[in-house]
Amino acid sequence: MALRFFCTSNISTQHHRSAKTLVSSSLSLTNSCMWNSTPARNSKNKCATAENVKSLVLPSISSTPLESLHRGNWVKLICGASFEDVVDIRNLSLVYTLAGVDCIDCAADASVVSAVNEGIEAARNMVSLRRPWVMISVNDDKDLHFRKAEFDPEDCPADCSRPCENVCPANAISFQGKSTSGISYNTETPRLLKDGVITERCYGCGRCLPVCPYDKIREVTYVRDAFTTADLIKRNDVDAMEIHTSGRQSNLFKELWSALGDSVRNLRLIAVSLPNVGDSTISSMNKMFSIMKPNLQSFNLWQLDGRPMSGDIGRGATKESIAFAVQLAKAKGRPPGFLQLAGGTNAHTIDGLKKEGLFQTTITEYLHDDMSTINSSDSSHALISGIAYGGYARKIVGRVLRSMQSQHGGAASIEDHPEHLLMALKEALALVGPIKCL
Ligand code: SF4
Ligand code: SF4
Repeated sequence: MALRFFCTSNISTQHHRSAKTLVSSSLSLTNSCMWNSTPARNSKNKCATAENVKSLVLPSISSTPLESLHRGNWVKLICGASFEDVVDIRNLSLVYTLAGVDCIDCAADASVVSAVNEGIEAARNMVSLRRPWVMISVNDDKDLHFRKAEFDPEDCPADCSRPCENVCPANAISFQGKSTSGISYNTETPRLLKDGVITERCYGCGRCLPVCPYDKIREVTYVRDAFTTADLIKRNDVDAMEIHTSGRQSNLFKELWSALGDSVRNLRLIAVSLPNVGDSTISSMNKMFSIMKPNLQSFNLWQLDGRPMSGDIGRGATKESIAFAVQLAKAKGRPPGFLQLAGGTNAHTIDGLKKEGLFQTTITEYLHDDMSTINSSDSSHALISGIAYGGYARKIVGRVLRSMQSQHGGAASIEDHPEHLLMALKEALALVGPIKCL
């Protein structure tokens, strides 16, 4: 298959602006239609919204996820390895599928995987789109992404100003049945939420731990069970797996890989997410690659985890992921595999990559979908294959979800609320569009 694709930054900016304009005009149209709506009008509005959504579909999302990896414009949404709020996950998956992501990465949990797939299918019912890959995340040892905060609210002094509640980016801390956003995430009335950490919403960022003046908050870490994971990746709706590792103990990586056995042969992509361990990064990657190689029948990817779970903090958070990419781009003797940024990625990441000359979508021609096309010495694909967005992606769409839930309840499906769907899509396109050359 021959691919022809070329993108320049000028085209990118111009098209991005026109996408924004289009979203704004769609929003006005939909809002005017919503006035005095009756059920019949609501269904007309949904049709109008579907038409508006169709008009926004990115030209580049006709490309397959694999083509995006080769071109250098792969985008992954990270729902969070520990985030298990299936209502939010379904809504996020729907919005980011429409925005054109290539992959949605989620917790290795059957109900979470189902929620991701439901969101994807709801988006594809609205617009004819190619399906993004679904990736599950697992770990070989203790890892920041695989932990939950916990405390007993009965132990909290009554006069505590609750800084934990304010600092939590996931609205995962609840008092009197409501999180700080005022939304009760419990749909089973009249029972109120238990006070404390809403376990399924906590994704382990750890920001509440140091702010508690009474040291009441504990972290609970866990390792995903390899045999449960092996069953999960046999499902037809799971395409990829990511192994989070410290990169320091290859014996633990080997144990996990062995326990997964032949199940990994069902996958199209296997990613390894690792932090920057300085001079030993390349040797650690080579060790892990040699462990995987005998049973590796899919493509593989290295996720460069710059500053974990920090993209929502601000501009500076992305510096470490870009520095990691620069280091790996220069390194000799890398094992085969695509390179993708994560950890601190946000709206500033693309500019940072461009400054370093590392945002390069390519004219790519390849004949076979085999491992030879991704050998690190092969110049036919982009050096950096793409970007994964986590906390920042969830934050910008999450604001719209919170607004919708405060009006329509914590279990609301975003496709039932066209004005919120278009607002959320506008946010998602502003993030995904620049890398997809709009
Ligand atoms: S660890 Fe992070 S997500 Fe979890 S409760 Fe604390 S601040 Fe919220
Ligand atoms: S900051 Fe600590 S003491 Fe205060 S409400 Fe939160 S967990 Fe309880």
